[in-house]
Amino acid sequence: MFKFLKNISPRTKILFVAFILILLPGAIISYLSLQSIRQKAENLRTKYSGTVNLIRDKLQNEVGSLETKLRNSIIEQLPESDNTGNLRLWLRKIESENPAFKNLILINSDRGLISSSVSNGWKKPLESRLLMNPETAAGFDLAERAEFLSKNLTEAIMHYREALATSESSRERALLISRIGRCYFKLGEYRKAIDEYKKILEKQNDEITIGNVPAHVVALYQIANCFGALKDYKEQYNATLELFQYLLDNPWDISGGEFLFYLKSVSKETENQKITAGIVNDPEKKIENLQKRKENLYKQIGFIEFIDKDILPEIVSELSPGSSSELRLHYFSREVNDSVFQLGFFRIPAPFREPESLILGYQFEKKYLLSDLFPENLASVELGKDILVGILGKNDSILYIQNGIPLSKYLVTGNFPPQFAGWKVALFDPDGKSIEQLTGKEKQFYFMLFLGIIAVMLIGIMLMVRTVIHESEISRMKSEFVSNVSHELKTPLSLIRMFGETLDSGIVSDERDKQKFYGIIRKESERLTHLINNVLDFSRMDAGVKEYNFRVDDLVEVVRSTLEAYKFQISDSGFKIESDLPEESIILKIDKGAISQVLLNLFNNAVKYSDREKYIGVKIFKDSASVLITVSDHGAGIPKDELKKIFDKFYRVSDARTKEIPGSGLGLTLVKHIVEAHGGTVEVKSEVGKGSSFTVRLPLG
Ligand code: ADP
Repeated sequence: MFKFLKNISPRTKILFVAFILILLPGAIISYLSLQSIRQKAENLRTKYSGTVNLIRDKLQNEVGSLETKLRNSIIEQLPESDNTGNLRLWLRKIESENPAFKNLILINSDRGLISSSVSNGWKKPLESRLLMNPETAAGFDLAERAEFLSKNLTEAIMHYREALATSESSRERALLISRIGRCYFKLGEYRKAIDEYKKILEKQNDEITIGNVPAHVVALYQIANCFGALKDYKEQYNATLELFQYLLDNPWDISGGEFLFYLKSVSKETENQKITAGIVNDPEKKIENLQKRKENLYKQIGFIEFIDKDILPEIVSELSPGSSSELRLHYFSREVNDSVFQLGFFRIPAPFREPESLILGYQFEKKYLLSDLFPENLASVELGKDILVGILGKNDSILYIQNGIPLSKYLVTGNFPPQFAGWKVALFDPDGKSIEQLTGKEKQFYFMLFLGIIAVMLIGIMLMVRTVIHESEISRMKSEFVSNVSHELKTPLSLIRMFGETLDSGIVSDERDKQKFYGIIRKESERLTHLINNVLDFSRMDAGVKEYNFRVDDLVEVVRSTLEAYKFQISDSGFKIESDLPEESIILKIDKGAISQVLLNLFNNAVKYSDREKYIGVKIFKDSASVLITVSDHGAGIPKDELKKIFDKFYRVSDARTKEIPGSGLGLTLVKHIVEAHGGTVEVKSEVGKGSSFTVRLPLG
């Protein structure tokens, strides 16, 4: 499978294998774990979305059942008559029984509206012309002639009274009495006028109108005028105040504009008349209270006018019967002044004007939903303590949250259609964290872990590559060592054999030649011994069993005797040996044999690696803490980048010259080992072509 690996270097091979077998799977595993965290966030989101939808549905059902209750109570209790006063009271009652709703309005097919306080076009204005019976009509006619043509007011009063006696309709009667009052007013008989108007007040029925204005209002207005004419300003003020109150209690249809006109002028007149009447203190704050009520009524009027102008055209299709199921709920929502206007509505049958049907519109009392209905319902939902529920409004503003402390971030939201466009149900973490933030820490942790794993793997691979390369280098050097050692053994052995055989054959008779041959045999066997000693020592040292025999000795003496013996050994090689040894002895605890082996190795190297200038310098000197032995030569020198490696086992500098010189690569390894066993160090200074200098530093004492 990996045939192509054959031709590439072992380093690349190892890197390739490490990448494929270690790094790649590691990276894939780490990547997958990161993905699983991401998946976890996704799962969390799905879980919370499920919960939020359940809650949303629960709340929606709750609201839905309230709507059904509202609809049922409306349908069951709808009044039989469309009398505005009754309807207003009835709507007020329904509102108080259903705190989740406000601003109930009924809409009829004429696009008339009625709310619990006002109506707008709810009933067509009655014909202003009255269909009086002939007797009454005749009297009324005579009276009007007397009042307006002959300007005989006393006669007019008489005819009005005659008409009054024959009339059976309370509406006609109210009109006739007000006419009598007016005639008295014109006559300047204000008291009598007041008495007449008071008769109208006795009939407490706001259905009775004069023109389009309730007779009660006309009467009160006129009474106030009469008191004004009498300069009885207190009574005038009282009558106007009563009128103001009556207007607020019994607003009539606002469509004709008369009601608004009355309300506006009466509210102003009450203020003025209070001053004219000289009333400074009013402990009951009558006017203030009425003005407040007036403001509220204006709000209601504004609301109903807004429905009339802006909303009705859009929901008008719902008005025609048969256009949609009566029972279906509809919702209308629209952005108004930075907030969402919502209206729920449904069709109901109208019992008072068959076959007409009505529309009932309503708004949610959001305060009730947010502070009563939702909290109560959410209390029964088991969510665990690490989740809070809230309701969000426009721009995610918090309208409600379970613990009451607003949080800036939510976990998930679910829309609240269709009743509450713009509202959302949201789940919160109590610490206000988002899902990303909740899983972020774990993600970060795994990401760091991922980076850590990759880093550890890379370091591991690097170490592995280094070790493998080092090992393969050592094994290469070992095999080189074997051939080197055999080569080194061969030369002395063949010399010994050759001179031994020559001597043995008895050919050599000259005694001097014989001595020379013996000398060669001795030197070569010494070389052999040295070599074998090195190899044996190295193997002991490598196996950790090399033992030293430390004794107190004179170092100078050891160096001198080793040098003397060596001098003799290389006496005819033409080497110049210079020594600078102190006179006095330096006593140290040393292994004599091992130290002389160090020296012999250094001397041998100096001899082996010198060709041009045959020189060996030996020097002993002391500094404050140690004694230093320097062996220097003027030989080939060692390249700078090889200096550190020459002490490694089997290591030989790999230039052409060294290759020709026999050697095992163990000499300096032994030197270092022995010196370090003595607590010392070896240093080397060398320059290619100029020579080398090895310094052994042994601690004093
Ligand atoms: P070897 O048996 O090869 O001499 P050593 O451990 O004694 O092994 O030396 C390691 C290497 O250091 C040698 O191969 C040689 O290249 C270099 N070296 C050691 N001593 C000298 C020296 N005095 N001059 C030049 N090179 C030296």
